[in-house]
Amino acid sequence: MNLILLGPPGCGKGTQSRRLEDKFGMVQLSTGDMLRAAVASGSEIGQKAKAVMEAGDLVSDEIVIGIIAERIDQPDAREGFILDGFPRTVAQAEALDGMLAEKELQLDGVVELAVDDAVLVDRVSGRYTCAKCGEGYHDRHKQPAKDGICDNCGGTEFSRRADDNAETVKSRLAAYYEQTAPIIPYYRDKGVYKTVDGMADIDDVTKQLEEVVGG
Ligand code: AMP
Repeated sequence: MNLILLGPPGCGKGTQSRRLEDKFGMVQLSTGDMLRAAVASGSEIGQKAKAVMEAGDLVSDEIVIGIIAERIDQPDAREGFILDGFPRTVAQAEALDGMLAEKELQLDGVVELAVDDAVLVDRVSGRYTCAKCGEGYHDRHKQPAKDGICDNCGGTEFSRRADDNAETVKSRLAAYYEQTAPIIPYYRDKGVYKTVDGMADIDDVTKQLEEVVGG
């Protein structure tokens, strides 16, 4: 099963992708994670992407298509993948179609997690993750049971994304509506587009997605 999870920043793509990954053995392919790793490593791609990401704009199609083409070629992606944060432009969607055709793979679904803008800004501006296992937390909505200790793995270090602040999230939302939303009709025309209520409780969203994935 090969899926695209689509939706604005803070809609829950990352959280839900990780849950589907655990349950169905699909691999999460997050271009945001790949780009953050490139920035942290100081690679040429990372150096090009850093300022763009901090401003909340989109990294060039050429760079992102290049990294995803390389990643999708890895053997684990053959077992099924969830694309999280890619494609984000019609040009990326067209490039993905080309890659899939070349590898004789099909796209089983494109699922949008729909969430209101005010909720997105609130979610993004307070979130942080365990640096060890990636478990997500939130200043106002989900604190670890024991202060400073990850519920999931006992880790004591946490990190926040440089672009998770109220100011940058506005640019990220604008980029979503201007450049990414146009891919919805693209996939609707192909008959693979579905939408799920991303405002529901985290477990309910997972359930809705499992129904989509499970058939
Ligand atoms: P994300 O983790 O998906 O929210 O992505 C974080 C940032 O990485 C975005 O705001 C963009 O600057 C960049 N990025 C991630 N995926 C893409 C993509 N498919 N196309 C362009 N830029 C991307």
